[in-house]
Amino acid sequence: MFCVKILTAYPEMFPGVLGYSVIGKALKENVWSLEIINLHDFGFDKRKSIDDSPFGGGPGMIIRPDVVEKAVNHIKENSSRNSLYIYMTPSGKTLKQLDLVKYSKFEEIIILCGRFEGVDQRAINILGFREISIGDYVLSGGEVAAQVLVEGCIRLIPGVLGQSESILEESFSEELLEYPQYTRPQVWKDTHRKEHHVPDILLSGNHEKIKRWRFNKSIEKTENNKPDLLIKNRNKK
Ligand code: SAM
Repeated sequence: MFCVKILTAYPEMFPGVLGYSVIGKALKENVWSLEIINLHDFGFDKRKSIDDSPFGGGPGMIIRPDVVEKAVNHIKENSSRNSLYIYMTPSGKTLKQLDLVKYSKFEEIIILCGRFEGVDQRAINILGFREISIGDYVLSGGEVAAQVLVEGCIRLIPGVLGQSESILEESFSEELLEYPQYTRPQVWKDTHRKEHHVPDILLSGNHEKIKRWRFNKSIEKTENNKPDLLIKNRNKK
């Protein structure tokens, strides 16, 4: 079973979104497991504090390396799996769909959620955490970021999504964004305006033509929303 272990100062934030829909159902059905480790259980004083002020000055507090190490040792005592250690941080490598594919093949992922000004760099380097960001903006803690990563990972585990083809066709699977999708009603709001109609081609029943139309729309959407993906693909060839 795929195991996720979260190191956090706010255990009550979990499972959060991970308890809902297909991901929550898979959790209940033991397709994957979630263990939350409270960093305060490994605090260094009577008040179970986990942070201290930064050397060199500056605002805010930093999570101490000895606290993180104790929490990691606790995990290691109870596990002998092929594990991946991740620290959620805005200064990490930006998370991509291909990373999620790789992560979903591990037996266990251990995610450290930062708070305050972050975590002492020695804990990250010496305990072997990969630094991963979910985007170029700063949140106040790593818990939401960890839930983003875990949700993206779990849906790739075979059996979690009903139709595995939907994974193959969605955005980024071919390094193109997904084509636009339509459902009922066939005409929405205004019969006189073209943009209120579902494109005729999707009603034609001609699968070859639909495939070609979708591919062209994927390119068009990628050109408009993420031109850097197309440039990257071109440079690879
Ligand atoms: N001082 C840090 C900096 O400038 O890089 C920001 C610390 S942030 C206020 C507190 C915690 O939120 C971080 O340790 C990290 O765990 C989490 N976090 C914030 N933004 C994030 C992002 N974009 N991706 C992943 N984690 C993030």
